[in-house]
Amino acid sequence: MRLLRFNLGTRQLAAMLILGLVALSPVLLYAVERLNFRPGFNLFSPDQDVEMGRKASAEVNSNLPLLQDAQVEGYVSSLGKKLAAIAPNQSGGVKYAWTFKVVNSSEINAFALPGGFIYVNRGAIEAAQDEAQIAGVLAHEEGHVVMRHGTHQASEMMLAQAPLSLLAGVLGQSSSLASQLVQLGLSFGVNSILLRNSRSAESQADEVGTYILYRAGYDPHAMAQFFGIIQKKYPQRTIQFFSDHPNPGNRIRNVDEEVPRLGPRKDWKEDSPEFQAVNQKLQHMPPAPKPKPQK
Ligand SMILES: [Zn+2]
Repeated sequence: MRLLRFNLGTRQLAAMLILGLVALSPVLLYAVERLNFRPGFNLFSPDQDVEMGRKASAEVNSNLPLLQDAQVEGYVSSLGKKLAAIAPNQSGGVKYAWTFKVVNSSEINAFALPGGFIYVNRGAIEAAQDEAQIAGVLAHEEGHVVMRHGTHQASEMMLAQAPLSLLAGVLGQSSSLASQLVQLGLSFGVNSILLRNSRSAESQADEVGTYILYRAGYDPHAMAQFFGIIQKKYPQRTIQFFSDHPNPGNRIRNVDEEVPRLGPRKDWKEDSPEFQAVNQKLQHMPPAPKPKPQK
């Protein structure tokens, strides 16, 4: 050791460090490659995701009963932001909005608008048994945001429906992007194309969600387990969720295969007193209003 310390100059140390990194990089690249954290085909820029999401969230906020409770909102928002900070694919100056709202509905549902506007139903928080499960729901939705599934869907629809000249016009004028998309038949409400995910988008959101859970120190199996539990236990209250987030099949098996690739097993966190306090508070609130028929 002593010899080593005296004989290695700064230059040799730097060379060793570079060699080490070069040797390591295929491993890192391989892991990211295998995890497929690349968004699909998209006609929009990430900034346009945020613009579109903002427009859509204004629509959603005036149509859904939002729960106004500082403790519940504060909890979901701080958990959501903590997880969003470690979500992949946010380099290159992308600034997602990362806002979190709780909908006062007993349906077990959650959805994400492009650009980072995430909604979680009260029913989902009440159905979760521990913090890791609700963290899994948030992480899955964040997966849809960073993989840009909403505008990917919109892009595919536009490509299929709109003449190319129209597309060029729409994309050239970002200020009136939203209104022009409406002209193309894209709606922004709760039944928007922006919320309908394909099975492959679901698999990718699962992969990202599991990865975020692992990096945040939660049991990375919690997301898939929770989706399995609610589908079996509450079939009537999860219809919308599984319509917007179709089960890709083999969800639990896929996650079981992904987890060992993320790194060594840790002492995973599962719950917190803050989650239990919020869960209890919601269960003792007056029942959620009956949903009004959707337009
Ligand atoms: Zn989903």
